[in-house]
Parts: sequence; C-alpha cells; structure tokens
Amino acid sequence: MAEFSFELNDDQKAVRDWIHGFAADVMRPAAAEWDEREETPWPIIQEAAKIGLYSLDFYAQQYFDPSGLGIPMTMEELFWGDAGIALSIVGTGLAAVGVLANGTEEQIGTWIPQMYGDPDDVKVAAFCSSEPDAGSDVASMRTRAVYDEAKDEWVLNGTKTWATNGGIAGVHVVVAVVDPELGSKGHASFIVPPNTPGLSQGQKFKKHGIRASHTAEVVLDQVRVPGSCLLGGKEKLDERLARAREKAKTGGERLKNAAMATFEASRPAVGAMAVGTARAAYEVALDYARTRQQFGRPIIDNQGVAFQLADMRTRIDAARLLVWRASWMAVNGKPFESAEGSMSKLFASETAKQVTAQAVQILGGNGFTREYPVERMHRDAAIYTIFEGTSEIQRLVIARTVSGVQIR
Ligand SMILES: Cc1cc2nc3c(=O)[nH]c(=O)nc-3n(C[C@H](O)[C@H](O)[C@H](O)COP(=O)(O)OP(=O)(O)OC[C@H]3O[C@@H](n4cnc5c(N)ncnc54)[C@H](O)[C@@H]3O)c2cc1C
Repeated sequence: MAEFSFELNDDQKAVRDWIHGFAADVMRPAAAEWDEREETPWPIIQEAAKIGLYSLDFYAQQYFDPSGLGIPMTMEELFWGDAGIALSIVGTGLAAVGVLANGTEEQIGTWIPQMYGDPDDVKVAAFCSSEPDAGSDVASMRTRAVYDEAKDEWVLNGTKTWATNGGIAGVHVVVAVVDPELGSKGHASFIVPPNTPGLSQGQKFKKHGIRASHTAEVVLDQVRVPGSCLLGGKEKLDERLARAREKAKTGGERLKNAAMATFEASRPAVGAMAVGTARAAYEVALDYARTRQQFGRPIIDNQGVAFQLADMRTRIDAARLLVWRASWMAVNGKPFESAEGSMSKLFASETAKQVTAQAVQILGGNGFTREYPVERMHRDAAIYTIFEGTSEIQRLVIARTVSGVQIR
C-alpha cells in the first residue's frame, strides 16, 4: 500500500527553510523600496542567482520533485517574502515552461539555460501570449507568423501586451497565429532570440500591485527568426494543423488544446503564490492583534477580531491543500478530471484577496498606510484573480469540466 503523508520530507524542509531565509533576510527588507521604485530589482535577482535560487538547476529540481510539492513550496516562501520581487525572480519560469511543454529536446537544451544567464550575467525571459484584444479570449489572437520557405525563416508581426519581463528579457517566447482558420488550434510558439531586430518594448505599465515586476507591451515588426525557433519543429506543426483541419471538416471530437493544458497544469503554482501572500498578511495581522491595545486589552481578545483570524487561517490552509493536491496530480500524471488545477487557483487567489483585505481591516488606520506591509500585500493580492486566467475563466473551466456542458 502506498505511503500517505501531508508532511514535507527532511530535504524539502531544508530547502523550504533556505528559501524562507532569503525571503525574510533579503526580500522583505527591500520590498517597500522596490514597490515604490516600480523597477525590476536586478540586485536581488543577482543575489538569488549567486546562491543558486535563481537558476535553471534549482527550478528543474523543484519542477521534477516526484511529490509535486517542490514548486508550490518554493512559490509560497518567495511570495511570502514579497510578491513583486518574487515575480521578478520566477517570471522567467513561465517562458521556460512554455519551451519545456512544446519544445524539442534540442530547443530545451539550447534556450532554457540562456533564459537564466549565469550569476555574473543574469538574464530574464518573457512569455508573450496576451494581446490588447485577446486576454481571456485567446482565440482572438492576431499576431501572425508566416513561413518564408526560401529562407527557412518565420516572420512575426503583431503587438503583445501585459508581458512580464517583456522588452527587458533576453529570450522572448511568443505565441502567434500560423493558421487563422483554426482559431486557437492554429497557434504556435516561437523563440525570439536575444537582440533580434524588430522586437521592441512598447508601453511599460504602471500598476496597482506587484510593482517591482516589469509588465510591458512587446511590439513585433517584421521579426525574422530561423525555422529552428518554431517550438516543436515544422513537421510536428504540420501534422497538428492537418489533424485540426480534418477535425474541423468532419466536426469530430474536440481536440485537446496543448496551450490550455499547459496553463491548467501551471495554475497550482499561481495558487501557491497567492497562499504565500495570504499567509504573510495573516501573520502580520495576528501579530498586530496580539499587541494592539484598545479598551484596555489586546484587540484579539474580541471575538470579532479573533474569529476573523480563525477564518483567515482556515482558508489559507484549505487553499494550500487544494494547491498541493493539484500539484501532486500534475506531477504524477493524473488528469484533472474535475479541473483541480483551476479549483486550486480560483480558491487560493480569492483567499489572498479576502485575507489581505481582512488584514488591512485588523490593522485599522495603520493597515491603510505604507508604514505597514499589509497595504502593499493587499494591492499585490489583486493580481492573482486576474493573470493566468481570471477567476471567472477558472469558474468557466470548472463548470464545463464537471458538467460536460459548453457553458458560455
Ligand atoms: C501584472 C500582469 C502580468 C501579466 N503577465 C503576463 C505574461 O507574462 N504573459 C501573458 O501572455 N499575459 C500576461 N498577463 C495577461 C493576463 O493573463 C490577462 O490580463 C488575463 O488573461 C485577462 O485578460 P484581460 O486582461 O484581457 O481581461 P479580459 O479578458 O478583457 O476580461 C475582463 C473581465 O471580463 C471577464 N470575462 C471575460 N470573458 C469572460 C467569460 N467568458 N465569462 C465570464 N467573464 C468573462 C474576465 O473574467 C474579467 O473580469 C499579465 C497581466 C497582468 C495584469
């Protein structure tokens, strides 16, 4: 009979404590400054690289941890430290996963190491899918990739938006339309190597939260990349497109969309980020409630405050369990038959929003100022219900999956 345990093993605990140390000693003290500066915290990414916390090796080890808990544990601790800085550290991972999911072994070996650079010359990467008119509605994507057979090159044109690390990245992974007739089945992903002419940064967004993370438009104007930059290769793409055309003609069963399957698998990681932010705000609120005196006693003596803390803690633990379940399922190849990945992201992100709002309330006037970190955490938490699929889209995925009805 298989062993069952909710406990991290000793190796995992050691890694968790090591990340926690970095989050507490390096990220936390710098969080307010980088939030105000609204710039990528390069010195902190460099420090993380020097100790191996920003490296392909480290993330590969966590990604392939057979328990599935390596990535959620890492995300929770880093985002407990600070969400904006943490996203600057892990943003490259989204581009890396895009290559891992769709690339050949050669592409994986060539491009993923370049995404991270090395400790003396740190790089970041960007994953560019969203467009001004194609956010939740990925099928409306317009960025076009056209094959120039004579030169064995792809030519990319379009505008991407909301790209984390967009324009400051070395390697950009760009999703583009190769066959407009096929909707999202006619999309393919491309590597745009560093310094490729025609790729430029558009507007950099000033944001409500996670302000230390760079978010920008990416403009592609006659960007030419070699044929070898098509992730998965031309042969595989042609086969996939032929299958999709056949299905479209015969009206056969719905094809599984590879990009959506990848997102579904990566959603627990976003859930874990949300758990980290929620836990951070809860801890500040608990500490404050124990020490803040009103009416001659600590405010935690009031059930009205203590019960809020009880609810906050319960929701955080429930969110973590959903995240761990989904991550364990993903690593062990168990299909998300009830959209468990989406469930974990939905519940954890809504928890982070709710818990950080409660923390602001428990800190009263202080919670509303930038003298205390819960104000920043509350702003940061708002992102989790938006990126990697909004809460509404998660509900749509869950409802469709459990009902079998193509709910709109
Ligand atoms: C800080 C930040 C970083 C990001 N990083 C990246 C990145 O690195 N790469 C990338 O490609 N993208 C990135 N994104 C984009 C992000 O994934 C999108 O913002 C998200 O998918 C939502 O798309 P949208 O903003 O266009 O909203 P819309 O799709 O326009 O949605 C607006 C509202 O309508 C609701 N809605 C839409 N359709 C439905 C429906 N069918 N049923 C019910 N409600 C619906 C939504 O839930 C939402 O509330 C980032 C976004 C932000 C803000």
